[in-house]
This record gives sequence, structure tokens and C-alpha cells, in this order.
Amino acid sequence: MTKISAWPLLIMAAILCIPASQAADDIVVYSARKEHLIKPLFDAYTEKTGVNITYITDKAGPLLARIKAEGANTPADMLMTVDAGNLWQAANEDILASVDSPVLDKHIPAHLRDPDNRWFGLSIRARTIVYSTERVKDGELVSYEGLADPSWKGRLCLRTSKKVYNQSLVAMMIARLGEEKTEQIVRGWVDNLATPPFSNDTKAMQAVAAGQCDATIVNTYYYGRLLRKEPDTKLAIFWPNQSGNGVHVNISGAGVTKHARHSEAAIKLLEWLSSTEAQNMYASLNMEYPVNTAVAADPYVAGWGDFVSDTTNLGKAGELQARAVMLMDRAGYK
Ligand code: FE
Repeated sequence: MTKISAWPLLIMAAILCIPASQAADDIVVYSARKEHLIKPLFDAYTEKTGVNITYITDKAGPLLARIKAEGANTPADMLMTVDAGNLWQAANEDILASVDSPVLDKHIPAHLRDPDNRWFGLSIRARTIVYSTERVKDGELVSYEGLADPSWKGRLCLRTSKKVYNQSLVAMMIARLGEEKTEQIVRGWVDNLATPPFSNDTKAMQAVAAGQCDATIVNTYYYGRLLRKEPDTKLAIFWPNQSGNGVHVNISGAGVTKHARHSEAAIKLLEWLSSTEAQNMYASLNMEYPVNTAVAADPYVAGWGDFVSDTTNLGKAGELQARAVMLMDRAGYK
């Protein structure tokens, strides 16, 4: 490369805060998954293969918008983010490439990846019921739908409907139960609320622990974080819908960008992240579950018990997201 042609690259690298020393076959990742959850994996991959990985982290929305705005000039080879709703949006915005990989097909169950192979789940997060062990009696909890029962009046806490996790939960309920039935249930939840919705899962659990309400719906890794900090908290996990469709699960995942300059290298990284070698670390770092069924969950996480999970393709979480948002609005779920 001549000095002159290197200048535009250097300028671009400076603007993007990406080191100018980046080699031709290094991989650039835009990640909405936080640095402490990805860096150990990237370091391990670099050590194993010699391939360097440069990354930036931000929220999913801005990263998606940025890749779109950068168009064919994007330095991003891979987008990593949480929630199938976000991954579906990225695919829908046409910024992800379809990847044909027998390795990914083998490692990742079909319902946890895009039917058109544009995004792939890399860890499973279960969104389940957490309840007060002091005030909830055996048999009171059965299903997500059951939390709409009048017996839960004034006993339920929820996180805001603005969070994509709840939008995906409700979208998957629409896929399973239809819009009318889902709306009845969401209205029932709203009727049963003890407090206005919380800004995050942890606050909702703390409200249960403090006696403001008796149960809430959260991702299990937040429960794990809270219990590790405060082991005496009188909360427990309940796995709902076990005789039906199973627990609502979502994913963190990734896709290779449509304009990736290092597409082959990015696919190799994606394949490695789904491998038995990487999956344990990937899931354990955030107390999540591996997508690769050949890999056991972290013992601490496994201690919360086995459960049946919903196997509806998570693409539905994206497809039905707009309808879910409108439904929650109609039902008065703030
Ligand atoms: Fe989260």
C-alpha cells in the first residue's frame, strides 16, 4: 500500500477510533454486548488463531443505524447484539448477509437462528417468573398467562413495556395464542400491577424482595447477579408453562454484515463462538445458557433447575414486534 492511498484509511480509522495498525484480515465487530462479556472470548480467539479483533460497543439501535449509514463503506464485519427482536430488525434493514455454514447449522438449534441464515443465537437467556418465597404458595404459579388471574391483583411487578425483552415476550405470545387472547392476558397483568412498571429487571425483583409485590418476569442472569450479591434475598425462580409451550427464551447473537470486508474471517469467528470450545465461556460470562446442546450450562446456572423451553422460531419476536408494541399500548402497559 502506498503512503497516499493509506491516508483515507488512516482518517477513517481515526474517526472510528479503530487502530490504524489494523491488519488486512483483522475482524471488526460492532457489539451491543458489553465489553466485559466479549473481550475474554476475543482474546482467546486471537491467542488461538492470531486473528485480531477490533470492536466498538454501543446500544443496538445506534450500532444498527451506524452500519446502515456507513453502507458499503462500513468497517464492521460483524454485528453482535442481544435479543432476537434486534437481530431481526438488523436483518430487516438489510445490513446482514446470509451465511451458509454447516457448522453453524449443526451447533445452533434451528429456532435460535434466522431461517434465512442472517443471524445466529450464541447464548440463550430465559425470561421467567421470579417470586417471593415468603408470600407465594405452592401451586399459585403455573404460567405467564396465570399472572393475569384476579388472584394476582395487586401482587405483580413488571419491567416497562419499552424494553425489547418484553416486546419479544409478548410477540412470542401473539405467535402462540393470537392477538386477542394475548391482549386479554396483558390487560390482566396491567390490572394486577402493584406498582408502575420498573425501568429494569433488577428493580422489579428488588420490589418483590421488599414486599411491594409477590412476583415478576425477568431474565435469569439478573436473578443470578442479585443473588450472588445478596444471597439471603427471599426470591426464587419459577419455570412456567412446563406442561405447554415452555419458558420464553431469547438469545444474544450475531450476524455477518452484508458489506463485510473480512466475511470469511467473520464466519470463522462466528463458527468458533458456537463451538464447544467457546460456548461455555460465552454463556457463563453472563450466567446464560449455551445454544450448543453439546455444552452443559455453568454449574451455578444449572442449579436453578432444568426446564422445557419454547421452540418457536425467534424470528417471530421481530416479525410481531410492532404488533406487540401496539397491543401493550392498547392494554395500558406502560
Ligand atoms: Fe439484559
